[in-house]
Amino acid sequence: MSLSLYIHFPFCSNLCGYCDFYKQTYQPDWERRYFAALERELTLAIDEIEPSQRTLETIYIGGGTPSLMHLSHLENLLSALHRCFRFASDLEFSFEINPESINAEKLLELYRLGVNRPIFGLQSFNVRLLKRLNRRHTISDSLRAIYQARATGFVNFGIDLIFGLPRQTSRLLSDDLDQAVDLAPPHISYYQLTVEPNTVLADKIASGQLKLPDNDLMAAMYRGIHQTLSKHGYERYEVSSFARPGFACRHNLRYWEGGDFLGLGPAAHSFIGERRFANVADLGIYLQSLDNRTRPLVADVVGMEARMTEAVMLGLRTARGISRGDFHRRFGMPVERAIDGDMLTLLRDNGLISADGNYVKLTDSGLPVADDIIRRLIK
Ligand code: SF4
Repeated sequence: MSLSLYIHFPFCSNLCGYCDFYKQTYQPDWERRYFAALERELTLAIDEIEPSQRTLETIYIGGGTPSLMHLSHLENLLSALHRCFRFASDLEFSFEINPESINAEKLLELYRLGVNRPIFGLQSFNVRLLKRLNRRHTISDSLRAIYQARATGFVNFGIDLIFGLPRQTSRLLSDDLDQAVDLAPPHISYYQLTVEPNTVLADKIASGQLKLPDNDLMAAMYRGIHQTLSKHGYERYEVSSFARPGFACRHNLRYWEGGDFLGLGPAAHSFIGERRFANVADLGIYLQSLDNRTRPLVADVVGMEARMTEAVMLGLRTARGISRGDFHRRFGMPVERAIDGDMLTLLRDNGLISADGNYVKLTDSGLPVADDIIRRLIK
């Protein structure tokens, strides 16, 4: 039995207009208090984890902007983790980086600390599109960061990109794809921009100041991304995730396949055994709660039905699909019990889903509209 660990670093130097992740503006004092609280949270959480399960297979530090952190804090936290857990010999250790907050020295330090999968949030190679997203980095920041990562010795690394940006055309997307392929990272996450409620982007769209590409153009963009990346040797293993063979993100795969997780930090989620927890998404309350030696939880125990729904949602977004065997082992019933049978037949007749073998999975025509299909299938 083993575990994956997610650590949420809730600070950013500026707040991007489209983002609804939990974060606040970076302040060194808060950072110090936050790391002290993380260690306290770890001490409380470890008591609830069976000794036989205390082996970490993957660590993922996300945010926020983890590359803003002072790495001496990370070094101390890793010492605390080593006291609590065994680290698997092939541990995957991912760390999110914004190009403007990294340099060769910091990359070397991350390497020395055991990070073996830096993820660079590049988003686009077009300076105007980056500005529209309120991102701070320049194209030369992005290129420099990737060259330095290679020079440091990172073999496994990824870049994150976004398509469907305001006023993005097929031509601009194709420029981004050319640059991405030219950099040849082992992993590319290509997300469609989603307009989250209560963001600056949502206001600008509502007021007509900005306009997103229409649905047909979005679908064409997604098909173009899939075709180009396939042609260059990337396998699509989840709706938005493309990797060279052997470089799929093990951390995310474990999450999608229902593996056990411990999440530390404000707004982090955990899933251990049959229990799901969520931490409070408020740094002040998080710190106060841990000052009082109390775990900062807001939710506990999700019912069986909700967990089956979640397994369907996560499984169908992967290229492998839902394993009938795994689903039966987890829930003691066939996957068909968690989905709408008439809708399944309809989708199958239309070539959007395949459900005949050991896996229930979306076809190449179904994956681009995964969210819509999942919404219809769930009972
Ligand atoms: S840097 Fe990332 S986490 Fe921070 S506001 Fe921008 S998109 Fe959100």
